[in-house]
Amino acid sequence: MSHKDHCSICEKKTEKGIYLLRVYICEECEEEMINTPADDPKYEYFVKRMAKAHKSMIPS
Ligand SMILES: [Zn+2]
Repeated sequence: MSHKDHCSICEKKTEKGIYLLRVYICEECEEEMINTPADDPKYEYFVKRMAKAHKSMIPS
């Protein structure tokens, strides 16, 4: 059984994704994150999206 999930970064529905810190992200975003240096403004965007998705998933 396969199920599609929404990527927490680009919101694309895909089966080809992984759970990173329990946040689902697609293959493409994973690769982009890996290839983005930490001092790149884009990296901060990824981190923020991840944090937001993480927060909405686990209410504190
Ligand atoms: Zn994505």
